[in-house]
Amino acid sequence: MHFDDLNLIPPLLSAVRDMSYDQPTPIQRETIPPVLAGRDVLGCAQTGTGKTAAFALPILQRLSQERKQHAGRRTIRALILTPTRELALQVARELTRMAKYMTGLRILPIYGGQPIETQLRFLRQGAHVIVGTPGRVIDHINRGTIDLTTISYAVLDEADEMLDMGFRDDIQTILEHTPETRQTLLFSATMPRPILMLAQRYQNQPQYIKVQATELTVDTIEQVYVEVMPGQKTMALSRILDMYDPALTLVFVNTKIGAEEVVTYLQKQGYPASALHGDMCQVERDSI
Ligand code: AMP
Repeated sequence: MHFDDLNLIPPLLSAVRDMSYDQPTPIQRETIPPVLAGRDVLGCAQTGTGKTAAFALPILQRLSQERKQHAGRRTIRALILTPTRELALQVARELTRMAKYMTGLRILPIYGGQPIETQLRFLRQGAHVIVGTPGRVIDHINRGTIDLTTISYAVLDEADEMLDMGFRDDIQTILEHTPETRQTLLFSATMPRPILMLAQRYQNQPQYIKVQATELTVDTIEQVYVEVMPGQKTMALSRILDMYDPALTLVFVNTKIGAEEVVTYLQKQGYPASALHGDMCQVERDSI
């Protein structure tokens, strides 16, 4: 199957071509038609499956087709919620690339850490699509600087992550500020009960779509694992760094404190290492 078979409009097909996407991924093949037809979708899909384009392309298409009704007005038409600032930025960037040939469509990322004055200025200028983290969106709702009563599309991206981060009440408050007639898309890597309850409460007979992450690995990456005692992990890490002498290394740690501990250890050993986590200020995060 090709993107041409999905009834997408020429400006989107051209953008997809520019992005060098050859064929739609399974989640895109299954999600684009029902969203274009106006249905709610409950998608069980992980990062890497192409889920961003799966919701972004049909929403952009529907926005483009509705533009005549809303001509000249810069009211918010779509809201995409993501768990982290980085993901909000990444999704906003991807949408901007896809909307490259749709003139006049404004896509705005809204996230904590960015100066509120800058955001207020952008919001005053108007936007059609907001990609935001729940905390900052709530902040704008409370300040009265965002009006979500005009939206037709709401997306919860990585919903399980948002719930794990304690955003459940915020998500519910945000959705309560949107019209019930909206089309709601919910994506989550896992489908525990709280996600299903969210779907039941805020979705209208959603089409359930599940894609298996068949390829978790790619051939160009060699994977190796090493068994060590918990207390020896950092020491093993520095040995591995010495052995392979890589130009750049990304180390994933499961807690913020753990990240700081690894960085402190590596710095003491003379490696130029930096931490990156949510307790750091945005300027620092961006520069790292
Ligand atoms: P996502 O799951 O949305 O985070 O996407 C994972 C990656 O796959 C991103 O880098 C996308 O740019 C890329 N991608 C999405 N759809 C396609 C496609 N149809 N063909 C090739 N790459 C894609």
